[in-house]
Amino acid sequence: MTDRYAVIGNPIGFTKSPFIHGTFAKATGQDLSYEAIEGPIGGFAATVDQFRADGAKGLNITAPFKLDAFAYATELSESARRAGAANCMKFEGDRIIAENFDGVGLVRDITINLDVKMKGRRVLMLGAGGAARGALLPFLRQEPSELVLVNRTLSKAVALAEEFAGCGPLMISGYAELADLAEGYDVVVNATSASLRGEMPPLPGNVLRGAELAYELAYGKGLTPFLQAARAEGVAKLADGVGMLVEQAAEAFSWWRGVRPSTAQVIVELTVPLS
Ligand code: NDP
Repeated sequence: MTDRYAVIGNPIGFTKSPFIHGTFAKATGQDLSYEAIEGPIGGFAATVDQFRADGAKGLNITAPFKLDAFAYATELSESARRAGAANCMKFEGDRIIAENFDGVGLVRDITINLDVKMKGRRVLMLGAGGAARGALLPFLRQEPSELVLVNRTLSKAVALAEEFAGCGPLMISGYAELADLAEGYDVVVNATSASLRGEMPPLPGNVLRGAELAYELAYGKGLTPFLQAARAEGVAKLADGVGMLVEQAAEAFSWWRGVRPSTAQVIVELTVPLS
């Protein structure tokens, strides 16, 4: 019998998830269907109750429902618990098991697809929202020499530093203080939502100089102000979040189906040139 899966969000018209999972299913010979559900705001639980009653096996969750999914689950993986949000669920009878694969997808894209090592390197993450939070533990597990978290609203970064104290060399900073750096960073990750509005985080000019990688989590937007600044500073590698998107989908697919799809061709098909 064909197993049912879906992605839920609002709005959902933009989603690439059915294309990605449909391609994975064909490539691996898995008998499944995958649809996009526009969940009503305030109606997450009722929509998912119905989907489960219809026999669904799993669900991906995108904005604005990641916190609703976290609350709806009966079991949380460590990554979902640490992220405080879920982007994937598996249904097994009454069990609703929640995961968060965003961080591991980002790390796989950086370390495998882009071949940039994080171990022993200096890493700077911009932003302290949901995506940054989900990436903190997977980043620290890569054993960077230093992970600096910078956020416009410093109190959010302070709260994250307290929560992740003891997990690794995590430090926080305001944007202005970054100008006093003696050394540059190897990897700079823009996990703010500034690029969605064509804005640039208030990063002092010298911070990107000498970096090996500038990674923009937003995807499909071409050369964002952050990536333009990185190019102007001569950063060796520039990337957007399309690889992260596909890698987190591959993690979900493997978790659901027990078979890991290859990601390279799907990433190529979804890539918007950085120009
Ligand atoms: P949130 O709304 O949770 O957090 C937004 C963050 O951006 C906050 O830290 C906010 O700072 C900061 N910010 C917003 N505007 C500016 C600005 N002009 N200057 C400096 N900081 C700013 O968003 P998410 O964490 O969910 O998403 C962040 C980005 O990651 C988005 O671009 C999203 O599209 C992308 N993303 C990509 C994924 C992928 O698979 N590639 C998956 C998930 C997210 P403050 O706290 O001060 O308001």
